[in-house]
Amino acid sequence: MTDVEGRRYLDMLAGYSALNFGHGNRRLIDAAKTQLERVTLTSRAFYHDRFADFCEQLAELCGMESVLPMNTGAEAVETAVKTARKWGYRVKGVVDNMAKIVVASNNFHGRTTTVISFSTDPDARADFGPYTPGFEIVPYGDLTAMEAALTENTVAVLLEPIQGEAGVLVPPPGYLAGVRRLTQERNVLFIADEIQSGLGRTGRTFALEHEGVVPDMYVLGKALGGGVVPVSAVVSSQEVLGVYRPGEHGSTFGGNPLACAVALEVIAMLRTGEYQQRATELGEHLHHELGLLTGTGVVEAVRGRGLWAGVDIAPRHGTGREISEKLMDRGVLVKDTHGSTIRIAPPLVISKEDLDWGLDQLRAVLTD
Ligand SMILES: *Cc1c(COP(=O)(O)O)cnc(C)c1O
Repeated sequence: MTDVEGRRYLDMLAGYSALNFGHGNRRLIDAAKTQLERVTLTSRAFYHDRFADFCEQLAELCGMESVLPMNTGAEAVETAVKTARKWGYRVKGVVDNMAKIVVASNNFHGRTTTVISFSTDPDARADFGPYTPGFEIVPYGDLTAMEAALTENTVAVLLEPIQGEAGVLVPPPGYLAGVRRLTQERNVLFIADEIQSGLGRTGRTFALEHEGVVPDMYVLGKALGGGVVPVSAVVSSQEVLGVYRPGEHGSTFGGNPLACAVALEVIAMLRTGEYQQRATELGEHLHHELGLLTGTGVVEAVRGRGLWAGVDIAPRHGTGREISEKLMDRGVLVKDTHGSTIRIAPPLVISKEDLDWGLDQLRAVLTD
């Protein structure tokens, strides 16, 4: 990235994983340009020639049957909530208006009024009430609390397989598999918000794959639009997404030709496995190097998977914000989360040399 003063930066935040394939990725820009010259939008009442392809390819990538495209991540989460409720009433047989969705503390699922209603972050919630009811919040990573929260009215559990905004929190081993088992036993949908963790970031197409878990529904966004256009989607089975009848849900821009063209290229790129492989290999290197810093005490803890790390800096070196600003002065873009935590999520196309240069800047900032 080059700023208005001509200063160059290495972007190690990558649009919170929307830019998994880097800035100005040739394949994605070309796919967008080609589509710009053809058709950019049809009324959703009519099909266009990229729509079926997009749905089919994305469903296949996810190993699922049905796709419902939206635009932003928050909209896709809203769609997942609506879908789970409708499934609860129509398929599970929950009494009207009693549906509950269980979520985790410290979640981040977006910024709409319903989504912030089940946030535990005061900054995200304060002054935006009254809040949407129907959500139960349990501590992230606590399977016993999860089990206790499930009732006959529970229609879904909505979780991030790794909590990004909370500081790249990886749940304890066995947690996600445990949630899968519980939700299966209780006839509850397991909704995985893979908007940030998915599409290659952790070294797999989906972060849940590390735990051998297949959810009932994926919520996708960010990298699905390649950093070019907003594209999000809910992906699930016919039984679940088939609850909608015409007119019951929709979006003017969801699944538009430009969005589909770019997303189709993203899906084709992911199918090569090349980006997942890069995230795995470079991720091992990143975590190895960060681990060495933990050894010296300047870093208190490192979490994450693949090319994704939450780094707790020893507070004597400053707040996450201060460290991020010092890194920016040295030409590296990252962002703080809470306290003295910074998160690192470079594009998956980053070279090992650039990654090492970025790590050199971090070491320099921490030994200043
Ligand atoms: C970014 C994000 C969202 C919201 O996506 P927007 O496109 O900003 O609405 C939802 N869930 C997770 C896990 C995210 O990281």
